[in-house]
Amino acid sequence: MTTESVLRAEIVEVGRRMYARGYTASNDGNISVRLGDDRLLMTPRSVCKGFMTPDMMCVTDLNGKKLQGDRDPSSEMLMHLEVYRQRPDARAVCHAHPPIATGFAVAGIPLDRAVLAEVLTTLGSVPIAEYATPSTPELPAAVRKYVKAHDGMLLANHGALTLGTDLMSAYYKLETIEHFAKISLVARLLGRENLLAREEVDRLQGLRNSYGIKAPAPICPDPSVLGDLLAEPDQASCQVVQSPAGDGRRLVPDSIDTRPAAPVTSSVPDGDEEIRLTYRELSALIEDAIRSLK
Ligand SMILES: [Zn+2]
Repeated sequence: MTTESVLRAEIVEVGRRMYARGYTASNDGNISVRLGDDRLLMTPRSVCKGFMTPDMMCVTDLNGKKLQGDRDPSSEMLMHLEVYRQRPDARAVCHAHPPIATGFAVAGIPLDRAVLAEVLTTLGSVPIAEYATPSTPELPAAVRKYVKAHDGMLLANHGALTLGTDLMSAYYKLETIEHFAKISLVARLLGRENLLAREEVDRLQGLRNSYGIKAPAPICPDPSVLGDLLAEPDQASCQVVQSPAGDGRRLVPDSIDTRPAAPVTSSVPDGDEEIRLTYRELSALIEDAIRSLK
C-alpha cells in the first residue's frame, strides 16, 4: 500500500468514527491531511462522512487548487489551508459539530477552566474563535487569531476544529474536546465545579516538559501574579486557563500525616489563657449550665 492509499483509508475511518459518534449529521464536517510537503488530501464537498470511500478524496495544492479527484474539495477548504499556513507542524485537520462542545460554542462559553489534569497537559485550553460565516474567508480570519497557540478550538455558533501531527491525533483531540465538554456540562448541572489551583496548573505544565508532550504554547501567566488584572492575555502566544490562586493545598498530600489528631481547642479573647476541653468535658459543662438555669 502506498502512503497515499493509507491516508485515503484513514480519512474514511476518521469520517466513519465522527459520524458514528454523532459529531456530524448529514454532510457536515471535513477532514484533510498533508500529502507530502506541497499537497493535501481532503474530503469532498457534500458527502456524508459516515459513508465515504477512499476514491472520493480530492488532492489540492496548498493554495486550494484542485489537482486530482472527481469531486470538488470541502466547502471549508479555506479554513484548512489557513491552519496549514499558520502551523507548519500541522499534518492533519478535523472539523465537526460535536453537539455538547458546539453547545458551549453557541452559549459563548470557552472550555478554558482548570478542571481536568489530562486536558491541561495535552490541549491546555479550548478558546472560541469569533463567529464567521461558514465557507467564507471570514472563517479562516477568525481561526487565525487562536491557531498558533492552540491545537483545538470552538467556532462560535458553529462547531469545533482540531489539528495534529497526524490524522489520528487530530481526530483524538476532537474526541477530547467533546469528552471535556460533556464532563464540564455534568459538573455545572450538578452545581459545583471545583477548579484546580494555579499552583497545580503550573505543576501540570511542568509535566508537559517531563513527558515530552508537545503543546503549541505555554499556559498564560496568572494576571493576578503580574499585578495587572486588566491586561488581556495574548491568546496568539499563550493559553488562557481559569484557575484560582493557590492556597498551598493539594488534592493529594505529599505525605500522609500520621500524628494523632490535636485535641479540640477553644480560643478565648486576648489576655486570657487558652483552655482545652474534650467533647465529653464540654458536654458536661453545657449540661451543668442548663441544670443551673432550671
Ligand atoms: Zn462546519
